[in-house]
Amino acid sequence: MAEVVVVGGGVGGMVAALLLARQGHEVRLYERLPRLGGKLAEYRRDGFAFSLGPSLLTLPEVFTGLGITRELVEPALLCDYRFADGSQLAAHRDPARMAAEVERLTPGEGARWRAFHHWARGCMDASHRTFFSGPLFSRPQAGAGFSDVLAVAPGRTLAGLARKYFRDPRLRQYVGRYATYAGSNPYRAPAALGCIPALEHGQGGWYVPGGMPRLAEDLAALLKESGVEVRLSTEVEAILADGERVQGVRLMGGEAVDADVVVANTDAAVLYARLLPDRKRLRRVDALAPSSSAFLLLAGVEGRTEGLAHHTVVFSADQRAEFTDIFRRGRPPADPTVYIGCSAVDDASQAPAGTENWTMLVNVPAHDPARWPVRPESYRDLVLERLAARGHDLAGRLRFVELFTPADLRERYGGWTGAIYGSAYDGPMAPLRRPGNRGPRRGLYLVGGSVHPGGGLPLVAMGGRIVASLVGTDFPLRGRAG
Ligand SMILES: Cc1cc2nc3c(=O)[nH]c(=O)nc-3n(C[C@H](O)[C@H](O)[C@H](O)COP(=O)(O)OP(=O)(O)OC[C@H]3O[C@@H](n4cnc5c(N)ncnc54)[C@H](O)[C@@H]3O)c2cc1C
Repeated sequence: MAEVVVVGGGVGGMVAALLLARQGHEVRLYERLPRLGGKLAEYRRDGFAFSLGPSLLTLPEVFTGLGITRELVEPALLCDYRFADGSQLAAHRDPARMAAEVERLTPGEGARWRAFHHWARGCMDASHRTFFSGPLFSRPQAGAGFSDVLAVAPGRTLAGLARKYFRDPRLRQYVGRYATYAGSNPYRAPAALGCIPALEHGQGGWYVPGGMPRLAEDLAALLKESGVEVRLSTEVEAILADGERVQGVRLMGGEAVDADVVVANTDAAVLYARLLPDRKRLRRVDALAPSSSAFLLLAGVEGRTEGLAHHTVVFSADQRAEFTDIFRRGRPPADPTVYIGCSAVDDASQAPAGTENWTMLVNVPAHDPARWPVRPESYRDLVLERLAARGHDLAGRLRFVELFTPADLRERYGGWTGAIYGSAYDGPMAPLRRPGNRGPRRGLYLVGGSVHPGGGLPLVAMGGRIVASLVGTDFPLRGRAG
């Protein structure tokens, strides 16, 4: 049995802790905040509840497979896409309905969507056998082969994939949107991100009743059941190690805790800058393009909006200009794509009767807004004006609007660089350049959105599974099954 310390109680850290405890290891988890869940956080005001992080759960079986039994809710639509020319695409989970909807939008493109979806399914199957099953190249699942490399369209960008399948620029924009699920630029992200529709049009997109953070509470209950010792409001100041192996951690305040295994659920950049300083590795992480961050407006809205879906995406008029602003000019986009989430559509607990809780999210650069050429308050006004011009006018209906910049979110989450997923998938080799799950000392492991296999709830949970299996290999339990 190994003594394990997990630094950070985000989803990746919690899943790793849970699986390691179930293997029979003695696990302690330290979380600097007074709650578990990390980015699975919420904001409440005047009877309204808002997610400060995830709004959509894909691959729910990753969580139900861990023993989470809460009944999930599936919104009627995956998403209501609104294009700049006023047209609309209602994304249904059922591939046949989706293809019909695409055909309605642009005659002739329905069959192309079916071909695109077929490609996405092949790419997803290949990813499960390789990318999601362990550190790249080291432990592909049985049955993985060279055809899996070809199935992810290496060398092609997501925008290139969109051009291959669709003639209508609106459908290319819809495909490019999937890059933002990983905080990336569709003109630089590998085509493999185009496998996400295989999830959405396969297992669907889900909502956790009571608010997404309830998922963290369910994981916390499983940790308790499995005997993981959780200490909240306890920050780890340093990881203790000699040249070869980890020895434990030092908590803020000076207490040292011995451990054979330390799992870091902080961003890799924070790990190598502060917890276990390592200039060479930090330089490597810093050399990766940061993922985007989020500019959030949380609004309490009077009345109910007819036809409002749980998830709406109001697209910019020019996708290329939008991503040039975010990733090249380092400024919030002059013409943003705005995601609108309204969980009150499916959950009366999220807003007072007769009102709506609107979360408006714009992808923005991760750096400090002090470096933006526009003040956050002016940008808030611009976003609201754009929405009004596009048929989502909240004038006269606003009870309040709260604004969260990347700096505000960073303050809440700590141990975070502000880039939602650490680094972006930038260039065809991006998946290989992301830090791996084994650290530079025996007994050190990394989990979470900044490392392999990447961010998003199901992926960080898969990272937790990968780490648990690596520890199981490196620290076999004597005399019992791992
Ligand atoms: C605005 C936004 C929208 C998103 N939307 C979606 C979505 O719709 N669907 C989806 O699947 N994903 C979404 N994501 C991404 C998803 O939330 C993250 O990928 C995932 O929650 C990150 O989990 P993690 O394991 O990396 O840990 P994190 O959530 O980053 O948690 C890390 C934890 O470690 C703690 N910590 C850090 N340093 C220390 C230390 N020294 N000592 C002790 N504790 C420490 C932190 O306090 C934190 O609790 C979104 C994220 C954001 C911010």
